[in-house]
Amino acid sequence: MIQRRKTRQVTVGDDRIGTVRIGGDAAVSVQTMTAGYTHDIDATVAEISKLAAAGADLVRVAVPERKDTEALARIVPQVRVPIVADVHFHFQRAIEAIEAGVHKIRLNPGNIADRRQVEQVIAACKDRGLPIRVGVNEGSIVERKDKQRRMKELGGVFGDNRHGHFLAIMIAKLEEYLDIFYENDFYDIVISAKSPDPMLAIAAYTEISKRFDHPLHLGVTHAGPRETAMIRSCVPLGHLLASGIGDTVRISYASDPVYEVEDALEMLYCLGLRERKGVDLIACPTCGRIQVDLFTLVQDIRNKLADEIELPVKVAVMGCIVNGPGEAEGADVAIFAGDRRGIIYVQGQKVANVPEEEILDRLLEECRRFEAKVKRGEAKLGEKIVEIAPPDPIGELGSGFSRIAAGDVEKVGGTTDLTIRQT
Ligand code: SF4
Repeated sequence: MIQRRKTRQVTVGDDRIGTVRIGGDAAVSVQTMTAGYTHDIDATVAEISKLAAAGADLVRVAVPERKDTEALARIVPQVRVPIVADVHFHFQRAIEAIEAGVHKIRLNPGNIADRRQVEQVIAACKDRGLPIRVGVNEGSIVERKDKQRRMKELGGVFGDNRHGHFLAIMIAKLEEYLDIFYENDFYDIVISAKSPDPMLAIAAYTEISKRFDHPLHLGVTHAGPRETAMIRSCVPLGHLLASGIGDTVRISYASDPVYEVEDALEMLYCLGLRERKGVDLIACPTCGRIQVDLFTLVQDIRNKLADEIELPVKVAVMGCIVNGPGEAEGADVAIFAGDRRGIIYVQGQKVANVPEEEILDRLLEECRRFEAKVKRGEAKLGEKIVEIAPPDPIGELGSGFSRIAAGDVEKVGGTTDLTIRQT
């Protein structure tokens, strides 16, 4: 069980769409950002709705121009998820977005021309009870002309950290910015300190969490294409979250933002920080023992189950009898493949032995049937009924085929079961 760091709580949303709480005892929320032009109203509404359907708790939109904030007045009433306006350079965009009905503002005070303009945004948010995310992204906090002096001044503060100068500048800047908010008696603040460098992100959020009790918005910025950005993001974010740091997350990919939502949720499910929705699928990586097309089977199962199963039914797809039984024991529905066949178990009870081409349909049928039983209260998720014992000793078994050939164990796909030991 992860002990989460205590933070102040902010609330985002309204009576029409409901509210999302960030910080305190609230579940870690998932955010993402639209990739289209905000002034394209219909496309933005459609994209926000798609992201909300994928599980986004909040959706951010860019408002670089007046036509974007004008569009917001028509977009916000059409969607059912809190909207965050992403503001850079022009404080007027923040004021206009607030008037258009957004639920939160993301601001980097460092790129707003002067303090009085930041104070106008603070006053407008205060009037409407809207929180502000204060961002000190690595790429946007350092004044380019001032960079060398600041690095020299602050480099020694975290001298033992290879990112010492950036870390020091990010924290110094954050303190500077937050003073503006505190002096205006404004505390509905969420902090972010993103960097494309995963180790700097870990260091920055860790240091910030020691100094401030505002909720933290975690992210690795400009992380790249999904294939690599998933690791670049989930390693530092997972580390921070497992350490109890972080109240809301955004994974950013150079790809469809739906993936950002799906992967952020999967990360939170894996850490036990969100209650899983839909199937929990595990599958073996396959090896030289495989005798079915498991990769295709797993993808087909994933796609079908994602559409059909609402409950967190644990499904295990295993390539053979060697590790399959042990790895599948905790699953609600499991299949061990072998010899172009598959044996399907539901909570340890063998329910089918089918040829490869029937595995998918039969597994889906068993998953549907099991979910229906759970919904009727006739079965419980995760209830371990039996232990499925593999042939023993497994070490001597090797691939299993020689022992199968010798008649020592029943061949998977044969007429009798593997040994089932009741517990
Ligand atoms: S379950 Fe069998 S096929 Fe899959 S990786 Fe393990 S040993 Fe190989």
